[in-house]
Amino acid sequence: MPFSPLCLHPTLLRGIQALGYTRPTPIQTKAIPPAMEGRDILASAMTGSGKTAAFVLPILHRLTERPRSATRALILTPTRELAAQIEENVALLGRHARVSVAAVIGGVGMRPQEQAFRRGVSVMVATPGRLLDHMRSSYATLSGVEVLVLDEADRMLDMGFLPDVRRILSRLPARRQTLFFSATMPPPIVSLSREMLRDPVAIAVDPPAAPPSAITHAAYPVSAELKSALLVELVRRGEIRSVIAFTRTKHRANRLADYLARNGVAAGRIHGNRSQTQRTQALSGFKAGKFPVLVATDIAARGIDVDALSHVVNFDVPKSPEDYVHRVGRTARAEAKGDAFVFVSPEEEANVRGIERAIGKKMMRVMLPGFDYMRRPAEKLEAPLGQRLAKMRSRRAAATIEGRRDTLRPRGRRVYAF
Ligand code: AMP
Repeated sequence: MPFSPLCLHPTLLRGIQALGYTRPTPIQTKAIPPAMEGRDILASAMTGSGKTAAFVLPILHRLTERPRSATRALILTPTRELAAQIEENVALLGRHARVSVAAVIGGVGMRPQEQAFRRGVSVMVATPGRLLDHMRSSYATLSGVEVLVLDEADRMLDMGFLPDVRRILSRLPARRQTLFFSATMPPPIVSLSREMLRDPVAIAVDPPAAPPSAITHAAYPVSAELKSALLVELVRRGEIRSVIAFTRTKHRANRLADYLARNGVAAGRIHGNRSQTQRTQALSGFKAGKFPVLVATDIAARGIDVDALSHVVNFDVPKSPEDYVHRVGRTARAEAKGDAFVFVSPEEEANVRGIERAIGKKMMRVMLPGFDYMRRPAEKLEAPLGQRLAKMRSRRAAATIEGRRDTLRPRGRRVYAF
């Protein structure tokens, strides 16, 4: 089916065409008509399904049909990168409609965002922490909001955003349209939707927690110490063209990126200890093809859209099958094909079996021919646990002596506000 039966405003059809979309994806076919009627929606759509346009197009249609100068749509997302990406989508889809959009996110200056509030942009895409920072000032009024979208709703709960979301909601008009988009539909989302949505249309496109079917999954059994060398080898041999490699911790992400650089493989890195400028540069450099590898923690696992990403490597096996689904959803976007590799050390085998049960298939076990699985590792990505604990203890003791104990503690809300 083409887009025309959806009766979107002609200026939007031009934007859709310019992006090269020829027909709506299943989530768009199901969500756009009720959203255009003003209904609340509880949608469960897999990553890469085209869900951004599924909520952006009805919003743009509404704004184009009845222009007014106020912030009329608010889209809340858990991460800054996702917010920036949605902002870009709104700008692209709405390029022929006179719609203004701004991202209100942490890690960058408040001033341009304040100006956006004062100007009254039509669509605001925000992360909750920064939005609340602005809402302390009188210029940040959201009384004209007609549509609220909670994107990656399950993740927002995961990251402990619920109190912030409630505070924001309390400042929005009660009469509004609310759309929940969530890759998975855990019970807390369902019960929240009962509280926050009015007679919602429930839409499910895929069974929850299933990765896109066009993804090929493969497990590479390898000792923990040889994972970095295996990744280098796969890139060198051209088996992997462009890859996001997910590590368990920020520290491991740094060490892996350093290792890759020392071995002639250029890599960007994106995790919670990097400044927003560094994160933006890493993501845009990777998207522009400046380096073949982006090393990331799970912060990048949600929503980030990279054209023609050939592979996702689970350098460390994720803790939960849901994280796996989100990580591998970075490839095979919008029905393209993609490969997901998992590097599995013997200690991680049990987690892989959990993932296999969740995705309903057994992963193929692959050995890279000619790779020396018996060689001695040149270096370790991290010191053994015992050594790390001892180091933390001695740092804590030193801090106590200096009366600086508080410097070791995470501070308030910022713990999860990446
Ligand atoms: P999303 O799930 O919103 O992150 O979208 C995943 C990818 O699908 C993005 O690269 C979109 O540009 C692309 N996309 C969205 N809708 C369509 C469509 N109707 N046809 C082709 N690609 C699309």
